[in-house]
Amino acid sequence: ASGYSLLRDPHFNKGLAFTEKERDAHYLRGLLPPVVSTQELQERKIMENIRQYQVPLQKYMAMMDLEERNERLFYKLLIDNVEELLPVVYTPTVGEACQKYGTIFRRPQGLYISLKEKGRILEVLKNWPERSIQVIVVTDGERILGLGDLGCQGMGIPVGKLALYTALGGVRPSACLPITIDVGTNNEKLLKDEFYIGLRQKRATGQEYDELLDEFMSAVKQNYGEKVLIQYEDFANHNAFKLLSKYSKSHLVFNDDIQGTAVVVLAGVVAALKLIGGTLAEHTFLFLGAGEAGTGIAELIALEISKQTKAPLEETRKKIWLVDSKGLIVRSRIDSVQDFKKPWAHEHEPVKDLSDAVKAIKPTILIGTSGVGRTFTKEVIEAMASFNEKPLIMALSNPTSQSECTAEEAYTWSKGRAIFASGSPFDPVEHNGKVFVPGQANNAYIFPGLGFGLVISGAIRVRNEILLAASEALAGQVTAEHYEKGMIYPPFSIIRKISAHIAASVAAKAYELGLATRLPRPENLVKYAESCMYSPIYRSYR
Ligand code: NAP
Ligand code: MN
Repeated sequence: ASGYSLLRDPHFNKGLAFTEKERDAHYLRGLLPPVVSTQELQERKIMENIRQYQVPLQKYMAMMDLEERNERLFYKLLIDNVEELLPVVYTPTVGEACQKYGTIFRRPQGLYISLKEKGRILEVLKNWPERSIQVIVVTDGERILGLGDLGCQGMGIPVGKLALYTALGGVRPSACLPITIDVGTNNEKLLKDEFYIGLRQKRATGQEYDELLDEFMSAVKQNYGEKVLIQYEDFANHNAFKLLSKYSKSHLVFNDDIQGTAVVVLAGVVAALKLIGGTLAEHTFLFLGAGEAGTGIAELIALEISKQTKAPLEETRKKIWLVDSKGLIVRSRIDSVQDFKKPWAHEHEPVKDLSDAVKAIKPTILIGTSGVGRTFTKEVIEAMASFNEKPLIMALSNPTSQSECTAEEAYTWSKGRAIFASGSPFDPVEHNGKVFVPGQANNAYIFPGLGFGLVISGAIRVRNEILLAASEALAGQVTAEHYEKGMIYPPFSIIRKISAHIAASVAAKAYELGLATRLPRPENLVKYAESCMYSPIYRSYR
């Protein structure tokens, strides 16, 4: 290739870091100024640039431009500055980027499959330049974060998630494929937006939708084989549960909103037992919100209790209660609730609001997954603190504005007794001279390591046992030093190490269940996982 095209290929470009020898060997003389830089210096320069932007969306665009220009430098920045850059390339900023995706659109990222491509999806996949794909993240844009239907502009989510697969988990960037399926949007504002990039029509539903997804799932398997991981992301719950149960029998699929959330929250709960005492089976759980996150978490907790106590799942579910927009889910409502809620319709008289449900059920653990902010009121937290020495409060709704309560409220209203974690990050809080560090139940703890473990073992299906193994591995990374500060999750700064451990546990379980195809099984799976991880350090070209 010519030197000129080398500089314009993000996979190979090193910018000013091309050495004198490389400049000679690859026809780069004169195309670069005389100075030869290092990757470290380039990294420092770009971080300085990014820190000068006041507007988060500008930081996001600067990062996306870097990815387009110099992929290795992009990942080096992301890995070395993970706590600072995660909120830029992922939530909350990616949400705003999706809302304005059409306006900030420059070069397409990922693969777009719309109703126009019906009958030709296999051809579309073949247009993608990379052949060996290991992880696909796919959305249909109907429920982007807590922002609702963003149609085709949901593409920011698969792109962002896959950047984390590489940076946090170690999957090679060339093995990652972001896909958006465009069946229209019901977002009136976007339909009227002259810069909207998607199909300008209402969402296709029913048979038309099902057929497109079926063609997509078959084409993926035909083109990439049995071992490609397909992560469903930000589908609305009426499709999410159906797709997951339909394709988990024939494909390697995983839904992060249902399963990823469940794994990360279960890990936090299990870690919290060191602080609040008791076994999982001895606790009583109450959820506000019975959607993908709420019922997904509830089910995984019930499974873990069942695994620990050998009690049947129908029994272990009975200590878990959920409240939806119509109140406590109880037996008398069973005929009118969606299928995925039915297992939680226990015998109880109807209860309308959360505060009354808390008083009636007397949970030891309260989890918010409704997407509605300010719902863990003073009354609710005080009630939790009145019958629990150390109530566990998890306010998981995102973004920050939708959090059920703030960290400060949880600590203050419980007089410093609550163990608190949230979906969106909160700063440490000082209460009566003691500093409390709230945990962040971020899915990014889990999906990169989980996906990487599936990839390196060549797993062909995801099973619940694998999810439980991932959860256990994460909880195992919380040390005495973290507990001291009230933390129930390890710090993000060591995420690569955490991911390697999760990947190793996931792979071990896949081998144990006979679902792994990469044979023979490596002896030391942690070492193996670490050795397979993508490194963003520049290669030298001779
Ligand atoms: P979802 O599937 O739409 O479910 C939302 C649930 O909340 C539904 O059961 C809904 O009731 C209920 N609800 C809505 N308004 C309510 C109200 N005023 N009172 C009581 N219940 C109400 O959404 P999801 O995917 O589960 O996500 C929910 C929230 O969790 C979002 O804010 C999301 O950001 C957050 N989340 C956090 C994490 C994390 O921290 N790691 C992970 C995933 C999701 P109906 O069923 O009656 O409509
Ligand atoms: Mn999601």
